[in-house]
Amino acid sequence: MKSMYYNIVLSKKGMDISYIINELGEERERYFSAVAPPIIQTSNFASSTVEDLRQKMLHEPEATLYTRGNNPTVTMLEIKIAALEGAEHAIAFGSGMAAVSAAVLSQVRAGDHVVSVKKPYSWTNALMRQFLPRFGVEVSMVDGTLADQYRQAIRPNTKVLYLESPNSYTFELQDIEAVVAIAKEYGLITIIDNSFASPINQNPLAMGVDMVLHSATKYIGGHSDTMGGIVCGSREMINRTFASEFMTLGAVLSPHDAWLLLRGLRTLPVRMARVAETTRHVVAWLERHAKVERVLFPFLPSHPQYELAQKQLRNNTGQFSILLKTDDIQKVELFCNSLQHFLMAASWGGHESLIFPIAASYASGKLKPTLPFNLVRFYVGLEDADYLIRDIEQALDKI
Ligand code: PLP
Repeated sequence: MKSMYYNIVLSKKGMDISYIINELGEERERYFSAVAPPIIQTSNFASSTVEDLRQKMLHEPEATLYTRGNNPTVTMLEIKIAALEGAEHAIAFGSGMAAVSAAVLSQVRAGDHVVSVKKPYSWTNALMRQFLPRFGVEVSMVDGTLADQYRQAIRPNTKVLYLESPNSYTFELQDIEAVVAIAKEYGLITIIDNSFASPINQNPLAMGVDMVLHSATKYIGGHSDTMGGIVCGSREMINRTFASEFMTLGAVLSPHDAWLLLRGLRTLPVRMARVAETTRHVVAWLERHAKVERVLFPFLPSHPQYELAQKQLRNNTGQFSILLKTDDIQKVELFCNSLQHFLMAASWGGHESLIFPIAASYASGKLKPTLPFNLVRFYVGLEDADYLIRDIEQALDKI
């Protein structure tokens, strides 16, 4: 597995990651040569003349007119993420879900049809299964491990093929280039949630995808202290989304949150390298353990999609799931409750290691689990591998 990738040149733009993260979009001479950018904490921007105001109105989204549309601290983040994804342009949102919803809504109208990967992030699932149908948009969900499943679901009114690769909890991959080829054959738009990989490990625009989005809450922020989302694509697509879903739904990223995300971005390549290495150690240890039935991690040579993972992603990241070898939910709960250094929490992508047990969805009238109760999702953070392994070992010893 590749581990050194700090000097990857993003070929499309000819910029390397170090330049993008440290220099691109920074205009230090405009703010006292401060190394850290200012938080332009304002809702509004004044114009000096009617002509000045007129020009700003004509040139939104580039001009600074009003923070719901444009704010320099937010713009700096957009410039950097667009460059990391090799995109012409990007817009930032107040959460990853705002980015998912805006990207999908920007491409459909009543009467259209979307083909989405099955088992995406749970609120993306709600968007597909409950929200879009309310507005007359039909959705088919496909397994996605074979690209042909997308082709078979296409109808005359299909507009979008939606991917999340790997998808949440079970981490199956879609063959991005193969799905893109099908989309191009039928004249469809492809949208992918690339949060799992981060812009460091997978760049779907280079594989022909039209729109790439991230929950910036995860790896980009990296410290579990802020939320955000971002959509990257062609200037034309992003400007169209700006003038419609972005401005009307108003799920804006605050300048302060943009600043926290910029701060997180400074260390993104280092964190991704560390998380990748630690996760490989933890997974290798778990794979050999007698009380673990299976590890769901596409970077294991035994995984049926290992070769595709090698082809599409530059490196592994920090998420995987295990199936505990037990048919007793009490034992699953005992294991999870016994972990002392993994926090039990939703989300992922921060400095701290986490678990999310599917068992928590069982025995509740409200939740309708579709995954087995012995599945525990792990996120490996920045702690030492041995420290985490010792913790898992003592918890497994209890069951
Ligand atoms: N996409 C994926 C894969 C996620 O895991 C999440 C959140 O967990 C989201 C999107 C939504 O992001 P946010 O929580 O920032 O709205």
